[in-house]
This record gives sequence, structure tokens and C-alpha cells, in this order.
Amino acid sequence: MYKNILCAIDTSEESKVILAKANSLAEKYQARLSIVHVIEYSLLPKDYQRKLKEDVIPKINKLADQYNIAKKYRYVKFGQAYTNICDLGEKHNADLIVVGSHGKYGIRALLGSTANGVLHHAKCDTILVKLG
Ligand code: AMP
Repeated sequence: MYKNILCAIDTSEESKVILAKANSLAEKYQARLSIVHVIEYSLLPKDYQRKLKEDVIPKINKLADQYNIAKKYRYVKFGQAYTNICDLGEKHNADLIVVGSHGKYGIRALLGSTANGVLHHAKCDTILVKLG
């Protein structure tokens, strides 16, 4: 049913749970699994942005390596998380986006949260992994 699954992670501990769920769905549907992390600081100086990216890439790679996600399907973006996740999903024809019910800041005010933004703006199905 699904051919192209995009999993959005914020690199918190819960990312492992979200990615494990996305991977089991990818196995079930024999779908491609991609992973995206968005660095939510696009107004910082370029040098600092580069540093943030350098810091986060090993974390993404560690997670992605566990599920043999090909390097070209590991994405790091800058800006607002939910718009980047939805845009990337659309650009790469994702037919399912997987996100957690909350992120590293805990349960943010529902309006404006990444999970809520993706649920409302994604052009494809979205699964919210319920986190404890
Ligand atoms: P939030 O709505 O921000 O509390 O986070 C809910 C979920 O959205 C997280 O569990 C992740 O799956 C995803 N998410 C949050 N922030 C980011 C981010 N910066 N990059 C990618 N995914 C994110």
C-alpha cells in the first residue's frame, strides 16, 4: 500500500521509537524509508548553521544506520519543521509521513506544534506515533 515513507525525527530519545515504527511499516509494505531532521534556526549566521548541521549529522547517521537507510535518503533541512517536512514529503512523493505525538520540548501547545502542523498540512497520510 505505501511505497515511500518519510520519518521525521527531532533526535530526542523518542526518535528511536518513532523510527522503529516507521521501519516496521516500511518492512510491512516493502516501502522505501527516508528520514528527515529540521534544524529550526534558519536566521543564525551561516557558520553557526553549518556547525549545528555538523553536530546533528552523526546523530542522524547513527539512527539511520540501524535500519540501513541509504545515505541519499537522509535529509537535514533548515527552517520551520512542519513546513520542511511536508515540502520534502511532497517533493519526494512520500505517501506516508511518520511523526511522534510530541517532541523534545514535551507536549507543546497543540497549535503550532510540529505534529499538528504535519497532520494538517501534509498532502499524504500521516501517522502519529503515540509516545508515553
Ligand atoms: P512536536 O510537535 O514538535 O512536539 O514534535 C512531534 C514530532 O514531530 C516529533 O516526535 C518528531 O517526530 C517531529 N519533529 C519535531 N521537531 C522536529 C524537527 N526539528 N525535525 C524533524 N522532525 C521533528
